[in-house]
Amino acid sequence: TTVHAIEKEGGIFVLHTGHGDVRARFVVNAAGVAAGTVSAMAGARAFVIRQRRGEYCLLDNKSRLLVSHVLFQTPTELGKGVLVTRTVDGNILIGPSADDQSAEMYEYKGTTAVSQSDILAKALLTIPDIPRGNIINSFAGVRAVAYTAGENGNAENPVNDFIIEEDSDVKGFFNAGGICSPGLSAAPAVAEYMLELLEKAGLDVKKRPGFIEERKGITAFNTADTKTKLQLIKDNPLYGRIVCRCETVTEAEIVQAVRSPLGALDLDGVKRRTRAGMGRCQSGFCSPRVTEILSREAHIPMTSVTKKGGASFVLDGKTRDFSGGEGDIE
Ligand SMILES: Cc1cc2nc3c(=O)[nH]c(=O)nc-3n(C[C@H](O)[C@H](O)[C@H](O)COP(=O)(O)OP(=O)(O)OC[C@H]3O[C@@H](n4cnc5c(N)ncnc54)[C@H](O)[C@@H]3O)c2cc1C
Repeated sequence: TTVHAIEKEGGIFVLHTGHGDVRARFVVNAAGVAAGTVSAMAGARAFVIRQRRGEYCLLDNKSRLLVSHVLFQTPTELGKGVLVTRTVDGNILIGPSADDQSAEMYEYKGTTAVSQSDILAKALLTIPDIPRGNIINSFAGVRAVAYTAGENGNAENPVNDFIIEEDSDVKGFFNAGGICSPGLSAAPAVAEYMLELLEKAGLDVKKRPGFIEERKGITAFNTADTKTKLQLIKDNPLYGRIVCRCETVTEAEIVQAVRSPLGALDLDGVKRRTRAGMGRCQSGFCSPRVTEILSREAHIPMTSVTKKGGASFVLDGKTRDFSGGEGDIE
């Protein structure tokens, strides 16, 4: 839920949110591109976050042999430059681009033909024969880059570091701001450091009863050897039903993805956990089947299944409802 305002009443923070007030002794501000705004709400350190959009292109598995290492170019002022790399699953990734965008374009994460051409042109300097036709998808994100705030509140100088601290004036308020690249790799260390700061400030941290230390993975059918495949099907016949043809993902894996403790709730959730929909057709063929399985396993109507939460519904209704009769969902 979105925090709209922060007040302090008798040593306790009151966070006014879209779902009512939340009262807390300690507040950690990890609001990404909004971190400067949230810090200002609490009257804490003034800093400005600039948004630097970055786009990546993903290549089909056919190109998996193009590189076997992460290949970097010379970094620029805006970032570490365009790299050509393999993902953990073997697909080749090229990018990212780096474009500062204005505050009016808040969290704009669209992809553009211009960025794609720019990325490809730069990646071709590293590997001269990357086939454009093998780009199966592209994605964009926004880096949150911290600047000091000038007198008029505008961005002044780059901070050139993450801001991870208890505020010197507003005690109990902690910033984890300006977490741009490599924020993802650094996230576990940032969390441990923040925990130390919170404990030092007097928070009594206890492990929740029933805390699960290790995440049990889903056994992938595609990469198993033949003997294991036969055993998997024997133990669970749903391993014998291929749902995603491009990536050879079975119904058993999708069911596990939905039923696990932090289960998938939408098509993208299933995709990230199993790779169903990550192949050449980008879920063109398997999304109807995954929608059915999600609906059945999560006990929700098919018309409530989304691609990635919110209003990204996959289906509009039943075809026969539109034509006045009973029938299939489309
Ligand atoms: C193109 C690109 C390339 C990158 N490359 C790398 C890399 O190579 N290596 C690496 O380690 N990292 C990389 N990163 C960086 C990494 O992805 C980020 O550092 C990381 O995702 C930032 O995490 P965060 O939790 O700080 O912010 P976010 O993930 O943005 O989370 C902020 C959260 O705060 C919420 N929020 C905002 N405002 C409010 C409010 N008012 N109230 C309540 N909630 C609010 C948002 O909804 C969001 O959920 C890259 C990022 C991009 C965009």
